[in-house]
Amino acid sequence: MKNITVIGAGLVGSLLSIYLAKRGHKVQIFERRPDMRKEKIIAGRSINLALSDRGWKGLEGVGIADEIRKIAIPMHGRMIHDIEGKTNFQPYGKEGQAIYSVSRGDLNKRLMDLAEQQNGTQIFFNQRCVDVDLEKATATFADENGNTTKNTSDMIFGTDGAYSELRHRMMFTDRFDYSQDYLKEGYKELNIPPAENGGWRMEKNALHIWPRGKFMLIALPNFDGSFTCTLFFPFEGEYSFSSLDTKEKMLSFFNKTFPDAVELMPTLEHDYFHNPTSSLAIMRCFPWSYKDKAMLLGDAAHAIVPFYGQGMNCGFEDCTVLQQIMEQESDWETIFKKAESSRKPNSDAIAELALQNFIEMRDLVSDEKFVLRKKIEAKLSAEFPYKWLPLYSMVTFSDIPYSTAWNEGKRQDTVMQKVMEIPEIEKIWNTEEGFKQIAKTALG
Ligand SMILES: Cc1cc2nc3c(=O)[nH]c(=O)nc-3n(C[C@H](O)[C@H](O)[C@H](O)COP(=O)(O)OP(=O)(O)OC[C@H]3O[C@@H](n4cnc5c(N)ncnc54)[C@H](O)[C@@H]3O)c2cc1C
Repeated sequence: MKNITVIGAGLVGSLLSIYLAKRGHKVQIFERRPDMRKEKIIAGRSINLALSDRGWKGLEGVGIADEIRKIAIPMHGRMIHDIEGKTNFQPYGKEGQAIYSVSRGDLNKRLMDLAEQQNGTQIFFNQRCVDVDLEKATATFADENGNTTKNTSDMIFGTDGAYSELRHRMMFTDRFDYSQDYLKEGYKELNIPPAENGGWRMEKNALHIWPRGKFMLIALPNFDGSFTCTLFFPFEGEYSFSSLDTKEKMLSFFNKTFPDAVELMPTLEHDYFHNPTSSLAIMRCFPWSYKDKAMLLGDAAHAIVPFYGQGMNCGFEDCTVLQQIMEQESDWETIFKKAESSRKPNSDAIAELALQNFIEMRDLVSDEKFVLRKKIEAKLSAEFPYKWLPLYSMVTFSDIPYSTAWNEGKRQDTVMQKVMEIPEIEKIWNTEEGFKQIAKTALG
């Protein structure tokens, strides 16, 4: 049994603590924010999140998947909104498969409740980690008045998010690699309220996308009938957060670009000018551990962009993998080393895939050839499920390592380029002869 300090009671820190406490360890969690179960605080980042198979597996491991399912809304596909407001539904996977919209706050609160029920785990709020002595596994925390306390334990987990203090301390150790890359685009949350009868104003079982080439608007359903919309938009340039700086310019742009969404957004002007504009960054580092004293997990180890909806899912998978290694090994340095070497290639892969998916979401989903390719892949997968699993399904509906999915995705790309060059592919793909030719080209 070890005394373990966890920095950050976010999604990953709370889930990790449950796994650790269930193994009999004494866990203390220190969280910078006040207790969100008592005080209404803005989560800081996206209000709702898409949960998919890897995330569910992490929750199943601690027995709360069924409970979360009750507050999750299935989204079976993308609903694409064109510039005239016409919609087109593109399923994500096979019938019955879906990603799920969940409230970040509700999920986090439930995970905190459960963490506190395990083996005497305590969460200390308003405790910002300001320093870590790695050799001694001592972390220093400051409260809201600046009073500091030191906490020494057997080891420290840093699940303190993209701007991790533990990672910051690890940067001063020898041969620690670190990089951060900001996107030229940022994001802003907007709102579509519930209908008067409390229902949803658009199809609720879909992730709505308004793809517009260099930027896009998306919307995920909430349980109360509202949708949280996110505008992903350049910071600078002709159409950008900096250029849309008056009510007139903003409304004229929105009316032209997202006409059907504007009709559903009575608070657009207020939301646009009052909600924060946030940045998007990819953060990579290695190693994730220091001797048997400290380990980074979740966004602290690998912050990615949100376009594959996998950041939290990847962090939850970190916990599942750590749990599997803890079952096999007892030496903590070995556990840390095995976990980081297993997870690093996979977090690098999903970082790349997420970046690629931005292009797919904001641009390609409205391209006819791309949509046809997706239909052909879905048919290949339906007819030959053991030979063809589309990249999106590997990432979202399986626990195939992200790095394997990435490599397989690159191979599929090459093959599908040949398929799409088959003469008159648009006409023949759904005929018996045509599909035979496709299968021969794709599967050999
Ligand atoms: C716009 C947007 C949309 C997203 N959509 C999705 C999605 O659909 N699906 C998905 O899987 N992922 C999504 N993500 C990614 C997801 O939000 C993150 O991957 C996930 O929150 C990571 O969890 P975490 O616990 O590692 O970090 P965080 O959620 O950032 O939690 C870190 C915790 O540590 C605390 N903390 C920070 N610093 C300190 C300190 N010094 N001392 C003490 N406590 C500290 C914070 O207050 C916080 O509670 C999205 C991200 C964004 C920005």
